[in-house]
Amino acid sequence: MPIVPVRAAIYLRVSLDLTGEGLAVERQREDCIGIAESRGWTVVEVYTDNSISAFSKVKSRPAYDQMVEDYRAGRFNALVTWDLDRLTRQPRQLEDWIDAAESQGLRLVTANGEADLQTDGGRMYARIKAAVARAEMERKGARQSRAQRQRAEKGRPPRGVRATGYTLDGEIILPEAEAVREVFHAFANGSSLRAIAAALSGVEPVIREVGDRTKVQDLPKSVPPLPSRSGRAWNPTSVITMLRNPRYAGWSMLDGEIVRDTTGKPIRGQWDPIVSDSIWLEVQHRLDDPARKSNRAGTERRHLGSGLYLCGTCEARVRAHNDRYRCAGHIMRSRAQIDGMVLEYVRGRLAKSDLADLLVHQDDERLASIADQLQTQRDRIKRARTDYKNELIDGALFAEIKSEAEDQIARLDTERVTLTAGTAASAILLAPSPVDAFDDADLAARRAVIDLLCEVRLFSAPRGRKPLDPKSVRITPK
Ligand SMILES: [Zn+2]
Repeated sequence: MPIVPVRAAIYLRVSLDLTGEGLAVERQREDCIGIAESRGWTVVEVYTDNSISAFSKVKSRPAYDQMVEDYRAGRFNALVTWDLDRLTRQPRQLEDWIDAAESQGLRLVTANGEADLQTDGGRMYARIKAAVARAEMERKGARQSRAQRQRAEKGRPPRGVRATGYTLDGEIILPEAEAVREVFHAFANGSSLRAIAAALSGVEPVIREVGDRTKVQDLPKSVPPLPSRSGRAWNPTSVITMLRNPRYAGWSMLDGEIVRDTTGKPIRGQWDPIVSDSIWLEVQHRLDDPARKSNRAGTERRHLGSGLYLCGTCEARVRAHNDRYRCAGHIMRSRAQIDGMVLEYVRGRLAKSDLADLLVHQDDERLASIADQLQTQRDRIKRARTDYKNELIDGALFAEIKSEAEDQIARLDTERVTLTAGTAASAILLAPSPVDAFDDADLAARRAVIDLLCEVRLFSAPRGRKPLDPKSVRITPK
């Protein structure tokens, strides 16, 4: 073997998790340089990473990565580090270094004298050391998550993460909490994630010229601008993160899931909820299945009556067609006239004093139980699909389970919609002045109120600019 000069690299790392403040880098450096000198090696490079745990795969160690690259490029053929924990606690990475020592002649020694990877004994020691360190860190991780679970089971707020609307201790921050509440209501009323994100970011509505008409993006007016926690503009994903958080309904959570007691009952957090159970559940349903129409008003629409008013001839829901409502072959009516009549009716109805009677009684406990049962049925289908793929059950049985579960889901869903029918409109009905609240509301919320108050049926009328024949529009109170 030719004699080559030994070019040594030194790797230093401050590791906070071992001793609290870590072994001072200076002492590591002195010891490592001492080792290199005592062996007559030339130190060509010193790599230093600060304050970063070697355990986490995701945390980056720039100096370490540079060192690996330099080794591959042949810049050094010996490596001195204070101890193996500082080099790496990833068994795979350590294996790479052991291989390098074994097959490529890399000289790897530790300054604390525990290992010299030139020897069989040193390599075996290194492997055992890495395995032990790894196991210790995993136990520590398990201990931490057990402590977190215990906190969650006592209903205490998760440590170290605050949600928009709450302090770290779970106290309500008023302006933020109000914005959160409006976000839930806007989404339950049918606003899109994109529109909500734009409103939170304080974006002006987009105005487009379509032909000779001006279209203004329908942003939920009730949602105020709110600085995001990250400082970036809100986007649909960050709005979903907010809407999915069970903390806002006052439920204790861990890793994004509701924590349950031994009987399976959700545990209440020791903080004030920002939204009601029913709004939160309604929002989850819309998020789970955007295609499902939780109520007729709750889908994204651009006109007051499309998909909401009925054709008086065939009972189908009318569609918007240019500036008209249409049911093919039956009706073609001017939108503005009909909407004007409907709005007048609704304002008159909202001006009366008995609105509270209209609010559907919300049985939150029943709703929670329905949500649970729906999840159980969806899980059944998922499990059966896996069993089928794994050839544990045959296609006929899978089809049977699936159809049975889907029947249950349809039944539960019908009950759920009935129970939550008033949710979307309730904010307007409970406002100090419902008429003003209605006029201020966005399109989706106004549709929800119309849907709650009445049925609108359109009949055919002669075409042309004539005064509206009141008999050609029938509004029936619900
Ligand atoms: Zn029709």
